[in-house]
Amino acid sequence: MTQVYNFSAGPAMIPAEVLRRAEQELCNWHGLGTSVMEISHRSKEFIQVAEESEKDIRDLLNIPSNYKVLFCHGGARAQFAAVPMNLLGEKSTADYIDGGYWAHSAVKEALKYCTPNVIDVTTTIDGKRGILPMSEWKLSADSAYVHYCPNETIDGVAIDEMPDFGDKIVVADYSSCILSRPIDVSRFGVIYAGAQKNIGPAGLTLVIVREDLLGKARTELPSILDYTVLAENDSMFNTPPTFAWYLSGMVFKWLKEQGGLREMEKRNQAKAELLYGAIDRTGFYRNPVAATNRSWMNVPFQMADASLDNLFLEQAQAAGLHALKGHRVAGGMRASIYNAMPLEGVKALTDFMAEFEKRHG
Ligand code: PMP
Repeated sequence: MTQVYNFSAGPAMIPAEVLRRAEQELCNWHGLGTSVMEISHRSKEFIQVAEESEKDIRDLLNIPSNYKVLFCHGGARAQFAAVPMNLLGEKSTADYIDGGYWAHSAVKEALKYCTPNVIDVTTTIDGKRGILPMSEWKLSADSAYVHYCPNETIDGVAIDEMPDFGDKIVVADYSSCILSRPIDVSRFGVIYAGAQKNIGPAGLTLVIVREDLLGKARTELPSILDYTVLAENDSMFNTPPTFAWYLSGMVFKWLKEQGGLREMEKRNQAKAELLYGAIDRTGFYRNPVAATNRSWMNVPFQMADASLDNLFLEQAQAAGLHALKGHRVAGGMRASIYNAMPLEGVKALTDFMAEFEKRHG
């Protein structure tokens, strides 16, 4: 069988070693004669999974002890509602940085709960799409928090600067770049991420919340979205997505074995440089994002002749390079190269791109 590399934006690749181990132990987990999916989330065996996974992610991200780690349902979109309903308190506005599709989607949801102060931070740098530096973001004095998305999965636009807005509570949608490099968690009030890109299977959502922000939720907030309720119940107020949690825990262990987030940072930078280098080489391919804001995780690209797109995608698929079609709102191609994508996968893609260009350039 051809070696397949899956460039899907999410659900996305999971490390092959993790999948193999899950396969081996699927029907007889820990000698129980049953799978991990079929046991109680309150059994001592599953509690061990929960505790180890929390410890491992705390180690990986160096999460300070005054933060809770919550394993939730509902994806990042549930957090678009949970964030305002947990954090607004008596306030009626929050700052929403608008830098792309997902940041904008968070604004649309927030409108149900408050009057967001929408701050457009998009700009043009050398004729390409960029983001204003954080020092130019005009936050309002009366906002309950500032929300932004450090990696726009569809647009391929990243904000890598670490926030420093004094006492302002910073909330970040890290869905598509969590665990891709070290970050300073202490700069944030809340970090959230759907699992299905850089953590594990869909169904699990990670929330990291500073303890002093608990206890402010609106009374009408559904309990399963209430950070305080989830924290008080060790993320087991209702039945958690146990299989996704278990598999994510194995990904955390894999990351530690690989050398942690410093090592991921090196690998992700190398992969991104290889791919952007191939895109920029001749002008046959093009990426619309300014160098300072190019994402290491999601790399959209177009061809000067868009009528070649379908042929490119068909031939790539046949060569084992899957899921390269751009998002329906963006068109063109997109390669998502999260932690689980090896350098060899990106190399296979850049070799294919060079060959395709030779044939059609
Ligand atoms: N935010 C970002 C940055 C995303 O990439 C996505 C999914 N592509 C979402 C939010 C929505 O996530 P979910 O489908 O888990 O609700």
